Amino acid sequence: GSVRGGGRVAILGATGSIGTATLDVIRSLRQCDPESDWRAWSISGHSRIDSLSRLAAESAPLPETVVVSDESRRAEADTCWKNLNLQGRCRLDFGPEALVRAATAPEVDTVVASIVGRAGLESTLEAVRAGKRVGLANKETLVVAGPVVTQAAAESGSELLPIDSEHSAIYQCLAESRHLAARSAESVDPRPNPAQSLSSSPADRADSLNSGNSAEDSFSRRFPGVRRLILTASGGPFRDATTQQMRDATPAQALNHPTWDMGQKITIDSATMMNKALEIIEAKWLFDVPADRIEVVIHPQSIIHSLVEFEDGSVIAQLSPPDMRLPIQYALTHPNRLPCPSPVLDRQKPWEMSLLPADHERFPGLSLGFEVAKVGGTAGVVVNGANEIAVPLFLEGKIRFTDIVELCRQTLRSHNHESSPSLSRLLELDAWSREHASGLAAKIHI
Ligand code: NAD
Ligand code: MG
Repeated sequence: GSVRGGGRVAILGATGSIGTATLDVIRSLRQCDPESDWRAWSISGHSRIDSLSRLAAESAPLPETVVVSDESRRAEADTCWKNLNLQGRCRLDFGPEALVRAATAPEVDTVVASIVGRAGLESTLEAVRAGKRVGLANKETLVVAGPVVTQAAAESGSELLPIDSEHSAIYQCLAESRHLAARSAESVDPRPNPAQSLSSSPADRADSLNSGNSAEDSFSRRFPGVRRLILTASGGPFRDATTQQMRDATPAQALNHPTWDMGQKITIDSATMMNKALEIIEAKWLFDVPADRIEVVIHPQSIIHSLVEFEDGSVIAQLSPPDMRLPIQYALTHPNRLPCPSPVLDRQKPWEMSLLPADHERFPGLSLGFEVAKVGGTAGVVVNGANEIAVPLFLEGKIRFTDIVELCRQTLRSHNHESSPSLSRLLELDAWSREHASGLAAKIHI
């Protein structure tokens, strides 16, 4: 093997924007070190079978398995395999269960969770339970089942590495603090080191259920010297729009993101700033921080991916041009850094970098995000379900742009909060919130 290591990667959602960027990163890692054994062991796609089979055929080496998660595409996939002469060279597997098989296959070292929405939950959770390194793009999994997923990671020792650019930035900015925590944990307790894991140990979590303060204590133990995590947000296409303009916004306007080229759902989430709401909740679970340790600032250029403020007032940030290949590669190669296909900042040009306060009045989704992060429990699944229903309804012209956040808010208000739900309860509430939001939407006439 090579000093730079490598690994077999399962890419769940390989046909999407993050998935194809991941394939690009793996190609480049192989090129930059031919000795390394980086490869896409398996890839999955849902309905775009033509692009999925093209991605498979163009991969070198061929993936061992290709998962078609939409069972009804079986015949189409078989035909593609015949036409591309992939039969016998690359195994096809079908249905949502096949995603779980790919995520837990013993040959796989790292799983890139890049399915969009709640559909990514089972495969991501099973990868965590199987102790894989998980590069997490699929933030909805943490929003829906944060406590279940982080508990599973603490038990299996799975490393959960953020791919979301903001959380990757924060993870990078926290390196020194993580190192300090590990050293002081060693000197207090020479057992294998719980402070090295991203989230708190089961004991810490039990603590924080028993006393009001220990969520705070556990945070300052794991992240010594850290005061606040500051998420940046581009502000999306409606950063400077009035509420009235947003009320009348068309899908084409909402899909026109100023700095990032992403899948449809996250692009609409960015326009409503529900994406930032989901990211506040994601940060809460990923770093196990109280909601009041999280802040949001607007940064239109998307170069500063997020910042961490320390007790002495110093602020450390991570900067790079907006390109997801950097955080994807970091999740794969951490703690190593290798040349990456994403562009570098061009210092021959002026760097425009501004930071502005976020406007919670025009973007009520932000307050919703903080509220959900504060109460935890069942709030995340309910808001996420409503949002996943509202986004396609807006794209189909059935509700207004501003109705998206309003449906999320009303659905959250109509549910009775529970603080420690089981996974099956969360899944029930996922179904309930979708039904509830659909019912509310049916009464809207535009
Ligand atoms: P995308 O729409 O481009 O791709 C989604 C992928 O999920 C596709 O491969 C699709 O086949 C698969 N998929 C869709 N429905 C499915 C289902 N029911 N079952 C199984 N697979 C299904 O989305 P994207 O922009 O790549 O985003 C993926 C995830 O990454 C999202 O959770 C998003 O929030 C997150 N993310 C994306 C970006 C970005 O730059 N695109 C940045 C940060 C986080
Ligand atoms: Mg993000």
